[in-house]
Amino acid sequence: MKAARLHAFGQPLVLEDVPDPVPGADDVLVQTHVCGIDGTDLKLLDGFGYTPELPFVMGHEIAGVVADVGRNVSDVHAGDRVIVYNFLVCGHCPYCLTYREQLCVNMRGVVGVLKAPGGYGEFVRVPARQVVCLPDHVAWADGAICCDAGLTAFHALDRSQARIGETVVIIGIGGVGAVLTQLARRAGLHVVAVDHAAEREAWALENGAHEFLDSTRVNVADAVRERTHGLGADCVIDVVGKETTLRDGVNALRRGGRLVVVGYTPDLYPISGKQLAQNELELIGTRAGRRQDLRACVELVADGAIQSIVRYQYPLEQANVALDHLRSGTALGRIVLTLK
Ligand SMILES: [Zn+2]
Repeated sequence: MKAARLHAFGQPLVLEDVPDPVPGADDVLVQTHVCGIDGTDLKLLDGFGYTPELPFVMGHEIAGVVADVGRNVSDVHAGDRVIVYNFLVCGHCPYCLTYREQLCVNMRGVVGVLKAPGGYGEFVRVPARQVVCLPDHVAWADGAICCDAGLTAFHALDRSQARIGETVVIIGIGGVGAVLTQLARRAGLHVVAVDHAAEREAWALENGAHEFLDSTRVNVADAVRERTHGLGADCVIDVVGKETTLRDGVNALRRGGRLVVVGYTPDLYPISGKQLAQNELELIGTRAGRRQDLRACVELVADGAIQSIVRYQYPLEQANVALDHLRSGTALGRIVLTLK
């Protein structure tokens, strides 16, 4: 099969022919139709965060058709339209047994990220339990981005414990931020979107934000207080995770407010114990999501409750161009690779 593989960190991917994966007894073979690309792919390219053994096939937002199934597989069939849940979890640790499998302590790999090759290739082999059905009327690209952008947004909003009528500030209106904005609006929250480029304003409003703050032009914390009778936001969801966004996030919170951290970078931000304690602030981390979050997210897309955020499609042969486009920061909406 054709695959775009990572041979060296910091170098472009290499398009080449590699052997087709062969499904084991409990596996399915998925023919990739669309694979999303996102910031995790850039981190992989740079060797930051996850560092898979090279050469490696990236791609963790996979939508495709089941091409073959192992002999023990009875509930998934050749021809099924599917998307892939990426975490290869153990199924028996305390987290797997308490509905938080994305925190599995025996994680065997993450499809397209670590140990398990992903969707930048024409075929991908995964255990049958990893696949989730994709309804016929959901476009491949919209299904694919559920695997990370959608799932992560869904789970982050769940973690935020946001309630109807609250003000939520969402920092970083890329793919995850756009879906979060849509979900938060639907959940009856007052949504303040924050980004560092004026051209993101229209995109944020298109996705349902009530208002937009350009962090290069205004002091985010002050602007949020002005809009909340001086109190601050009930909740800030930081999809970026830089020192500046974490600072803005903490400072924009009202007393008792919650900072939900989705994105991360190598940056550190020193949070004052006094500020945390005296204001009873809450810090909440959130990692991707559970398999059930993915199912729920696909249902919302199928129902039309989440609108498409995919705006650019590149063939696999142009994977490096697509990744450069993503890195440029100029893309409004998500970028996907098409393989079929
Ligand atoms: Zn586990």
